[in-house]
Amino acid sequence: MGKKQLDTKIITAGRDKKWTQQLVNPPVSRASTVVFDSVAEMNHATANRANKTLFYGRRGTNTHFAFQDAMVALEGGVGCALYPCGTAAITNAILSFVKAGDHILMVDGVYEPTRDFCDKILDKMGVETTYYDPMIGEGIRDLIRPNTTVLFLESPCSITMEVQDVPTLARVAHEHDLVVMLDNTWASPIHFQPFEHGVDISIQAATKYIVGHSDVMLGTATANERCWDQLRESSYLMGQCTSPDDIYLAMRGLRTLGVRLKQHEQSSLKVAQWLAAREEVDHVRHPAMETCEGHAFFQRDFKGGNGLFSVVLNRGNTEALTAMLDGMEHFSMGYSWGGFESLILANENINALRTAKKKDFAGPMLRLHIGLEDVDDLIRDLEAGFERFNAVLNHQ
Ligand SMILES: *Cc1c(COP(=O)(O)O)cnc(C)c1O
Repeated sequence: MGKKQLDTKIITAGRDKKWTQQLVNPPVSRASTVVFDSVAEMNHATANRANKTLFYGRRGTNTHFAFQDAMVALEGGVGCALYPCGTAAITNAILSFVKAGDHILMVDGVYEPTRDFCDKILDKMGVETTYYDPMIGEGIRDLIRPNTTVLFLESPCSITMEVQDVPTLARVAHEHDLVVMLDNTWASPIHFQPFEHGVDISIQAATKYIVGHSDVMLGTATANERCWDQLRESSYLMGQCTSPDDIYLAMRGLRTLGVRLKQHEQSSLKVAQWLAAREEVDHVRHPAMETCEGHAFFQRDFKGGNGLFSVVLNRGNTEALTAMLDGMEHFSMGYSWGGFESLILANENINALRTAKKKDFAGPMLRLHIGLEDVDDLIRDLEAGFERFNAVLNHQ
C-alpha cells in the first residue's frame, strides 16, 4: 500500500451507506433495545447477531459497525472488537485465550498495567506469566513450554521503546501453536500492519492516537480468521461494550490520523535530534533513530513514526528533574499520550519495572510526547528546562 493509497483509505474507511445513511459521518445511534415487528425479523437478527446486524445494544449499532469496518480496513484482520479502554482490550484478549494451568509469555517492556494484570489477576486464576527480553528474537523458543498458549508483544515497548522482531517471534510462536498478540498502540492502525507480520490479535489503546484529542477512553482488538470468533464471543460474554458517542469521536479522530502522525513525527525527530546533541543526554530512544534498540526492525517493518519517545540522561536527581519539569511552559505532565498536546514525565528507576533483563542506564529517563505546537517553542521550553536542571546540579 503506497502513501497515497493509505491517505485515501483513511478518508473512506467505514463510510458504507449502510451505516452513514448518505451522511458523510455515521450518525450517533444510541440503543439498548432493538425492536422487531415479526418473529421472522427477530429470528433473523438472532441468527446474524455476530455479524453487524442490529440485535441488542451490547452488540453495537450502526455507529459501532462503521468504526469496526474502518479499523479492519486500516489495520487488517477480519473483525474488530470494541472495549471501554485499551486496558480492557488487552485483558479481554488474553482472558479469551487462557485457562487455569496455562502459561503465557509477556514482553518485559510491556505497559505497566498489563504487567500488573498478569501478576495480580492471571496469577490468581492459575495462569503463569514469564517475562522475556524484548530483543530475544529466536531465543523465545527456549521459553515455550507444553502449556504455553499466548505470546504477547508490545512494539515499541512502553517507556524504553525497544522495537521487537515481530515476524521472527510470531514464526517461532506459531511453530508451537501459540496465539500471538500485539499491543500495536504506538504504530496506530496505519504504521505497522500486524497481520502481514504474523500477529493473530492486534490491540489498540484508541485512547491515544486514534481518538487523538485526549477526551475519550477506548480500546480495540482486531483479529484474524483464526482468532476472531473466540475473541468476539468471549469479550461479549465478559460484557464489553462501548458508547456510540465515544465511537463517533474515535471515527472523527481517525480521519485526521495520517496528517497528525506526519506532523508528530516531523516535530519529534527535530526535538529528538536536538536532544541527542545536548551534553546532559546519554542517548535518545526514538525508534526512528539508530540509538534505539531494534531500530533496524523499525526501518524494515514500519511505515512511519510519531511523537512519542524517551531520552536517557547522563546525570540528574529528583531535585534537578523537579526543577526542570515544574517550570515547563508548553509541556504538561501526564500519564497518557497521543493527543495534540505535548507531555513530559521523568522516570528515575526504569529497572524497577523490569524483571527479565535489567539494563544499565547512565541516568534518569525522560519520556516525551511531542504535540502539534510549534516545534521551536517546544525546544526553547526544553532548553530553559535544562537551565533549571543544571542550576540545581551546579548548586549541590
Ligand atoms: C495507554 C496505553 C494502554 C492502555 O490504554 P487505556 O485506554 O488507557 O486503558 C495500553 N497500551 C499502551 C501501549 C498504552 O500506551
